[in-house]
Amino acid sequence: MINRIKYCIANFKMNKNRTESKEYIESIQAKFRKADFASNGDNIRMVVCPPFHSLDTTQIKASDNHGIYIGAQNIYYLENGSYTGEISASMIHEIGSKYVIVGHSERRTHFNETNEQINKKIKIALDNRLRPIVCIGESLEQRKKGLIEHTLKEQITIGLNCIQDYSIILAYEPVWAIGTGETATADIIVETHQIIRKILNDIGFDGQKISILYGGSVNRNNAKELIALGDVDGFLIGGASLDVDHFWDIYKFIEESV
Ligand code: PEP
Repeated sequence: MINRIKYCIANFKMNKNRTESKEYIESIQAKFRKADFASNGDNIRMVVCPPFHSLDTTQIKASDNHGIYIGAQNIYYLENGSYTGEISASMIHEIGSKYVIVGHSERRTHFNETNEQINKKIKIALDNRLRPIVCIGESLEQRKKGLIEHTLKEQITIGLNCIQDYSIILAYEPVWAIGTGETATADIIVETHQIIRKILNDIGFDGQKISILYGGSVNRNNAKELIALGDVDGFLIGGASLDVDHFWDIYKFIEESV
């Protein structure tokens, strides 16, 4: 059996100021110190993705404790130049962050990000030693039209075109489950994760070797049940990650499952 790394990833989106983000990390560090497990070793990783302006302060705090990694929520797909308001992968790497979320559905929807742009972002992230957390998932409309597999195939084949790097992480996030309180059912999650692994196999990866997370209204009440589904390698968490106690509880359920 292949042991994939499990992840507990917080996406603050456009929430929390610098002080709040710093205090959040301090609070997690205190919880790690008190916990009866040493820290997340090779099998499980906690990643916190605050807004850009808090990456440095959280990074300094997080570097005191190997259990917590910091990630960005987005990057631009070019290295530098006249792109006002954008930030490059090398800039994120310079701060010390190790991860970056790419292709979140909010970026696809509100900022019209295409699979082709996402492909470039993944490539430049990898070139700069950032591990991309690649978000995929169908909208409600695509689900209703029976286009789930078609949508995922397009997102994966274009998004990962010319990429054969096992440091990518996928996050299956059905758009209709994000921030709605409506979690996908166990059956949907299991079936879809299998579809995703098959698509990965079809494009030359060994799908069993890639961590696939679930995201969409995960909270401390449903996390235990969801992590018990064999194919779920952790969570990308929006709303519930904003409360450090809730996020920690979810982390513990993952920790208990490894
Ligand atoms: C997300 O933003 O990636 C997400 C999964 O949000 P939520 O947990 O709030 O549904």
